[in-house]
Amino acid sequence: MADFDVLIVGGGPVGAVLALALRGSGLAVGRIEARGPHPAADARPIALSYGSRLILERLGAWEGLASATPIQRIHVSQRGGFGRAGLDAREAQLPALGYVVDYGALSEALGRELGAGGGVQLFQATVSEFESGKDAAVVRFAAGGATHHASAMLLAVADGGALPVARMRVHDYGQAAVTARVSCGVPHGNVAYERFTPEGPLAMLPAGDAVALVWTTTPVHARELCALTEAGFLARLQASFGSRLGTFQGASGRAWYPLVLKVAAHIAEPRTVVVGNAAQTLHPVAGQGLNLGLRDAWELAALLRDCDRADVGGPALIRAYTARRRIDRAGGIFFTDLLVRLFSNELAPLGWARGLGLAALGAFPPARDFIVRRMIFGARG
Ligand SMILES: Cc1cc2nc3c(=O)[nH]c(=O)nc-3n(C[C@H](O)[C@H](O)[C@H](O)COP(=O)(O)OP(=O)(O)OC[C@H]3O[C@@H](n4cnc5c(N)ncnc54)[C@H](O)[C@@H]3O)c2cc1C
Repeated sequence: MADFDVLIVGGGPVGAVLALALRGSGLAVGRIEARGPHPAADARPIALSYGSRLILERLGAWEGLASATPIQRIHVSQRGGFGRAGLDAREAQLPALGYVVDYGALSEALGRELGAGGGVQLFQATVSEFESGKDAAVVRFAAGGATHHASAMLLAVADGGALPVARMRVHDYGQAAVTARVSCGVPHGNVAYERFTPEGPLAMLPAGDAVALVWTTTPVHARELCALTEAGFLARLQASFGSRLGTFQGASGRAWYPLVLKVAAHIAEPRTVVVGNAAQTLHPVAGQGLNLGLRDAWELAALLRDCDRADVGGPALIRAYTARRRIDRAGGIFFTDLLVRLFSNELAPLGWARGLGLAALGAFPPARDFIVRRMIFGARG
């Protein structure tokens, strides 16, 4: 008999949402997290889609995100080229296209909700390896200076991609994202700006009274930007973004993240599934990674809640999970990768094609509706 029905490796947002979604299922759920019980102070901005809000609401975690700033409109343009497009919440008949929170605040809200009962939680415990057997999966982890083992009918790996997974496709974009909070001379009006530049996309997201910056560039430039004085940084940002948000007045909390695409060839095998970034780590363009990961967790939990306890982790569940995630996952990976490859270069013919694409999107409401639905609810719209 296994120690757990479901054992989750990783207590990031995807692992936490999976644990919350299994609350009250009657399954014995455990979670192993390398960090301590207090979430990392990670100010990385996360644009949660309206679809993710619905998931968090159902789990009781949305109320804890009072600081979430709604996005009413997304303005897309390319630097030095023609063509622009606007996506609008009113046109999509939604209260908002998405909501900006920071990673730390989201983790804290999920942690608070889990405190009210999300199964066994082990903190400061680091999994070093896992193995899938016929009847159970076994993990080896270090905690309190000793090595331990735990077994589960189903192991859900939600470690953000830290542990090696068989047959993982990795593509280094040769890019890094610089993040910061920037105060502007003009109120953001709940508009998110996505501006494509040859070095990569530059996003300015409404975040409280300020904007949250995600500036994609080369790793060398990212390091350089983080080392500049505040005034030097703001001058570079102003030159790259322009004056749509007035004169930038301050920037706090600069950090940078290397960007790679990682895609697991198989997301499930008997006794083990990989979810969230462990299954697919995406470029942050268009803010899809966590939204896709939350749908992984939500749909896995739905299947687990519906199956007999004896079938947890068995071949039928594994087949059903793989089939259920195929289209949404492939769509999310394809869409973000295509955006990065199409927009992050200076080839003149592509510049024209991009301009025409943006102009068509701006002029053609059904195309906007198609994109908005998929960004918010996933590839199945
Ligand atoms: C700059 C930037 C901006 C982004 N913006 C957006 C956005 O706007 N919208 C969006 O949807 N996504 C966005 N993303 C992507 C988003 O951050 C990820 O998709 C999301 O964090 C994935 O969550 P996760 O729980 O799968 O993994 P993680 O957040 O990486 O969490 C993994 C957890 O597992 C734990 N762990 C790791 N290894 C082990 C181990 N061996 N044993 C035990 N525990 C372990 C870690 O401590 C961590 O708590 C952005 C990413 C970046 C870099």
